[in-house]
Amino acid sequence: MMGAVEQPIPVAHPRARLTKQAKVVWGNRVVTVGGDAPVRVQSMTNTDTVDAIGTAIQVKELALAGSEMVRITVNTPEAAAQVPFIREQLDRMGVDVPLVGDFHYNGHRLLTEFPACAEALSKYRINPGNVGKGDKRDRQFGQMIEAAMRWNKPVRIGVNWGSLDQDLLASLMDDNSRRAEPWPAQPVMYQALIASAVESARRAEEMGMDGNQIILSCKVSGVQDLISVYRALAARCDYALHLGLTEAGMGTKGTVASAAALAVLLQEGIGDTIRVSLTPQPGEPRTQEVVIATEILQSLGLRSFVPSVTACPGCGRTTSVTFQEMAKQIDDFMRAQMPLWRTRYPGVEKLKVAVMGCIVNGPGESKHADIGISLPGTGEAPAAPVFIDGEKKLTLRGERITQDFQALVENYIEQRFGASGASKAG
Ligand code: SF4
Repeated sequence: MMGAVEQPIPVAHPRARLTKQAKVVWGNRVVTVGGDAPVRVQSMTNTDTVDAIGTAIQVKELALAGSEMVRITVNTPEAAAQVPFIREQLDRMGVDVPLVGDFHYNGHRLLTEFPACAEALSKYRINPGNVGKGDKRDRQFGQMIEAAMRWNKPVRIGVNWGSLDQDLLASLMDDNSRRAEPWPAQPVMYQALIASAVESARRAEEMGMDGNQIILSCKVSGVQDLISVYRALAARCDYALHLGLTEAGMGTKGTVASAAALAVLLQEGIGDTIRVSLTPQPGEPRTQEVVIATEILQSLGLRSFVPSVTACPGCGRTTSVTFQEMAKQIDDFMRAQMPLWRTRYPGVEKLKVAVMGCIVNGPGESKHADIGISLPGTGEAPAAPVFIDGEKKLTLRGERITQDFQALVENYIEQRFGASGASKAG
């Protein structure tokens, strides 16, 4: 471009937003939320909490998949009575993931009448729309905050538009009707969501709760609604924020909607902990919501959880499914190994593997990866060059290419991230 002064194109990166920082603790495990902490991944069980063993098993699965806190329903005295046993069971299994209790309607009673439950939980979720009506509301909310202070637990004040405080909404609607030019209903609803969260937090602080121990959320199910509400919420306060699209839905729809909403906000530095509220499809493991949450953070470059596999989509140049099967097998293998590898190979989650379908982009993409393979496309010689640290090192042939490549990946990991190679891991 003649005459124009060329400038380097800036590299996009998420903005930083410094918030208060909560500590979610169990034993020696301290999960910081907000402040300079990484964005945390949460999930929630769908077992009956009364089934202590079944719930502990699912909590363990979610934790192994990468969930850093797991929320469980605490809805009845029977459920509250089982919470300490769930905690004990997890401790026996060596799972120190903090448990979060999800309370609605009767949380004030359960936290008071079941002190062992209050103690075994590491954080309480309080929904200000579901703590009672009229004069009971403030008293019951206060009882939950008192329990949190007594046991030194952080709280999430979690507003949800499906259970928004109707008295507050009605009052804001009345105020709106008195405006010279009333707002449409949607901004009033946004205002009610934010006011419910922020005013509840202010009440908790007035009772003596440390503001660092308060996390807020205002969940809605529409992508644009969520973006609007969280931008306004982030501008109104400096509490750590829990982010998630409520009732995201099933399968592709729920995954895409969550990724679309969370990506926009996370890029703006909004969101200190996330959950993907995916409805499991029949037969789908509950852990899928954790996989998606970790993938969102990893795709944005905010966190690394598992080694990433770059694979091409395939096209008319490769008519075999070998590279797709191979990419899936390598990805499944590495995910399954991660609970062990996390401790044995520190830093392995940053590994980049490429599995490519033909010569067009295969060698180039493989060179960008730590270890990559370029499989032969249709009509190419039946040989698969392997690139390690940007250089072609060997060529695989024959029926056992997948197994041979997997062995090379394992060997690379041992060499680079194992005790003998740790000093080389950058
Ligand atoms: S690398 Fe080859 S097979 Fe894969 S999408 Fe590109 S051209 Fe198609």
